[in-house]
Amino acid sequence: MRIALVRPSMSGVRAGDAMQPLVFALLAALTPSGVALTFHDELVEPLPEVPDADAVALTVETFAARRAYQLADRWRARGVPVIMGGFHPSMCPDEAAEHADAVVVGEAEDTWPRLLADLAAGRLASRYDSTCADGLGGVRFDTSVFAGKRYAPLGLVQFGRGCRFACDFCSIHAFFGARIRTRPVAEVVAEIARRPERMLFFVDDNLYADPAAARELLEELVPLRRRFACQLSMDVAGDPALLRLLHRAGCRVVVVGFESTSPATLRAIGKGANLHADYERVIRAFHAARIMIYGTFVVGYDADSARTPADAADFAIRHRFAVANFNPLMPMPGTRLYDRLKGQGRLIHDRWWIDPAYRYGDAMLVPTGMTPAELTDGCRAARFAFNTPACIARRLAHPAANAHSPANAALFLAANLVSRREIRAKQGRRLGASG
Ligand code: SF4
Repeated sequence: MRIALVRPSMSGVRAGDAMQPLVFALLAALTPSGVALTFHDELVEPLPEVPDADAVALTVETFAARRAYQLADRWRARGVPVIMGGFHPSMCPDEAAEHADAVVVGEAEDTWPRLLADLAAGRLASRYDSTCADGLGGVRFDTSVFAGKRYAPLGLVQFGRGCRFACDFCSIHAFFGARIRTRPVAEVVAEIARRPERMLFFVDDNLYADPAAARELLEELVPLRRRFACQLSMDVAGDPALLRLLHRAGCRVVVVGFESTSPATLRAIGKGANLHADYERVIRAFHAARIMIYGTFVVGYDADSARTPADAADFAIRHRFAVANFNPLMPMPGTRLYDRLKGQGRLIHDRWWIDPAYRYGDAMLVPTGMTPAELTDGCRAARFAFNTPACIARRLAHPAANAHSPANAALFLAANLVSRREIRAKQGRRLGASG
C-alpha cells in the first residue's frame, strides 16, 4: 500500500520560513514497514498534480484549511481517497468530512495505525477519534521523511503536550486535553543526541508546563552542548537559578506570550502567569541570563484601543525584544473566544479560514474600542515599525542579550531577516490558491 503524506501551505505557495513539520515524522514512525510512504510539503516544494498513491493523508492547520479542501476536492475527483487529520479537522470534523473520506480527530498514536489497517482491509471508516489517554513513553519521530527538503536549519523536538493554563484564545486543552504529559527525559535526550542539528526548537506550547519535568530535562541537556529556542510561560522568570540552568542547557531564545500590557486585557485572556508578573522584572531576568526574547502580543480585546498596537510595539522596541509579533486577536475554532464572539455576532467572517474575502492579517472580529480597520492597520504598522532596518539595529544593540556574543548576534540577525521578509510576504495574502 502506498500513502502520500501532504502538508498544504496557506495559499498554495512556498514559505521562506518553513520548519520541519514534526507531525509527519511522528506519522512515519507509526507507519508499519509494509506501507510505502512519500511526503510532499507545499511549504518547500510544488505538489504533484495527483500524488501517485493509494490514498493521500493531509495534516491541516487552520490557516491552511481552505487550501487543503481545494486539494482534497481535486484529488477525490480523480479517485484518490483523502484522509485529513491535525488541528483543524480535530476542531471542525464535520466541515473536514465534506472534503475527506476519513477524518482523524485528535492525536495520531492510537488512530493512525488503526486507520492504516482498515484502509489495507478495504474498510476505511469515516472517522477515527483519539482517546488521548496514553502517556508519551515510546513516542518516536522518523525524521528521514524530511530528507532532501530545504527547511530552516533547526531540529524540531517535542518534550511534552498540554499546558497548566487555559487562556481564552488558546485551543490547547481542546486538542490535548487538560492533562500535561511529558516524554521520558532519557528518550528525549537520546533522540537529541542522534540529531545532527546544532540548533533545536522545542515545539511544546509551554516547555515549562510541568516545572519539575522541565528542570529534569534541562539538567540532562547541559552535557549535549546544543543550542535551542522554546516557548515558555513567563512564570519561569521567577526562578533565577532555573533561568541560569536554562542558559547552561543551551537556551538562547524564549518565545513568550506577553499578549498585552493592559491588566484588563490580561484578565480577559485569563493568562495566570502574566496576571501576577512584573513585566520589567521578567524581561530583566531573561536578559540577565543572556537569553533573547521573542515576544508575542494580541490586540482586539475590549480594553484595547487604536493606540494599543503602537504601544505594544514601543514596549517591545524599548525592551530590545529580539523578535516580536503583533497580531489581531485570532478566534480559532475550539476556543472560548471563538464561541463567545460567535454568540455575540462579532465575527466578521463566521468561518474566516474558508472565507475567500479574508486576508492574512485582517481583523477577524468587530472590536469594541476601535474599528476593524484600525485593528488591522494598527497591527500591520506595529509589525512594520518593529522590523525596519533602523529598529533592527537599535534592538541588536543590547549588550546583555542580543549582542552578548557573536553567536547570539548571528541568531538575532538571521531571525530578523526571516521575520522581516515573511511579514511582507504574508500580510494581505488570501487563504487558499487562486484560480
Ligand atoms: S500559556 Fe500558552 S499554551 Fe498555555 S493555555 Fe495560555 S496560550 Fe495556551
